[in-house]
Amino acid sequence: MESNVRVRFAPSPTGPLHIGGVRTALYNYLFAKKYNGTFVLRIEDTDQTRYVTNAEQYIIDALDWCNIPFDEGPGKNEKFGPYRQSERKDLYKQYADTLIKTGWAYYCFDTSEELDAHRKGHEAEGKTFIYNWHNREKGRLVNSLVLTDEEVQNRITSGKNFVIRFKTPQDEVLKMEDEIRGNITIDTNTLDDKILFKGDGMPTYHLANIVDDHLMEISHVIRGEEWLPSMPLHVLLYRAFGWDAPKFAHLPLILKPVGKGKLSKRDGDKLGFPVFPLEYTNETTGDVSRGYKEDGYFSDGFINMLAFLGWNPGTEQEIFSLEGLVEAFDLKRVSKSGAKFSPDKASWFNQQYMQSKNDAVLTDLYLPILTEKGISTNKEYVLKVVSSIKERAVFVNDFWDLSSFFFETPTEYDAKTSKKNWKEGTSKLMTELISVISSIEDFSSTNTEKVIKEWITAKEIGFGKVMQPLRLSLVGKLAGPHLFDIITMIGKQETINRIENAIEKL
Ligand code: GLU
Repeated sequence: MESNVRVRFAPSPTGPLHIGGVRTALYNYLFAKKYNGTFVLRIEDTDQTRYVTNAEQYIIDALDWCNIPFDEGPGKNEKFGPYRQSERKDLYKQYADTLIKTGWAYYCFDTSEELDAHRKGHEAEGKTFIYNWHNREKGRLVNSLVLTDEEVQNRITSGKNFVIRFKTPQDEVLKMEDEIRGNITIDTNTLDDKILFKGDGMPTYHLANIVDDHLMEISHVIRGEEWLPSMPLHVLLYRAFGWDAPKFAHLPLILKPVGKGKLSKRDGDKLGFPVFPLEYTNETTGDVSRGYKEDGYFSDGFINMLAFLGWNPGTEQEIFSLEGLVEAFDLKRVSKSGAKFSPDKASWFNQQYMQSKNDAVLTDLYLPILTEKGISTNKEYVLKVVSSIKERAVFVNDFWDLSSFFFETPTEYDAKTSKKNWKEGTSKLMTELISVISSIEDFSSTNTEKVIKEWITAKEIGFGKVMQPLRLSLVGKLAGPHLFDIITMIGKQETINRIENAIEKL
């Protein structure tokens, strides 16, 4: 049965979703599923100046790839819809008006030039200008707290630009509770009177966010730490409206792998890892940012890695399926301090997931890569290749490097290795080996190994004298899985051809 737990992921469509945003979505999803609740996607697009057209679709595609679908949102179960704030635009004004009527908000007519002058004046005296209790009623600022009702109405009807600000209560120690951070107190005299509504008819983030969380019956607000400074205003807004506030949980920041501060796209570019789930093309500049998906990460491994950036289950276990995460997740185990992002750990998770993936699944991922390289082969053969190389692979994109010799005769031989291993007498030895191989009837891995090793032993020479040049002939370098597995896979004729090639070229 559905519970009263309703959480929302409320991104602003200003660009691609950073992995910090994906983690916020993930924690909301895990929390919702754990309590049989509802995970809502709300698009907070009230700031038209920062609006990017392909961003909303990017967010939806990213959640889709991560396999953390929303239950309600644009185009889906719209019972509390619409879920795009731009489509709810007409709704917010009445709430701003209510706050004016109840004395919790006021009109301000100060022009930006006037405000700038106040700021500069304060700076000159080494002070910071804050629009709040301190100066709002002194007469220097032009607002409905000092103007008469008539003056206010005249200004509005004559089309003078205005904003509506929240009238923060004075002299109060506001007590708040965060599910992760515990009790927080703040002196309301340090807060500024934030703008709730703008003259262009649009609400600001603060007003729209609170009104929508209330109307959408959100029970828990789980969001990034960067919104913690907004919490006092939000708590006060709930009080002003006479509404019950949801519970709040502010997630820790995701930090740079080295140095201090928040993980940025620049860190990714510098150290060579993506900070976005999917590849993203900037519509104006055409710049392409890499994505985890395109870089060959498995989405389940990616999600597992993200879950651990700021949370831990309290045990040693690190590998969790999505269902396992739902079961183990607990807001109380989310840390207060920032979580350092580790590209190595991200690869490690992928490697773990690689090992646990079914060979048939990996084969299906490898086949299109082979087709693109113009390799025509059969699925059964690829399946065998995959099972022999997967333990050395971190990404599907590594498969080709690890296995090209299963499909193509080497055309080059590693120079250093050749010099060291292809000595005088090697060609003669390899020619003899060709005749040994030609005579093998049962070409299974175990039998070829047995015959060739017996021959080496009978010749009373070191194994390396034959095995290294043989590997070099077949692979082009000293790498790859068990040599006799390669031999049976590529077959007798191809083995002989490759040895002949090496004799000719080395
Ligand atoms: N629109 C805000 C953002 O872009 C949402 C903050 C919140 O969850 O309240 O992150």
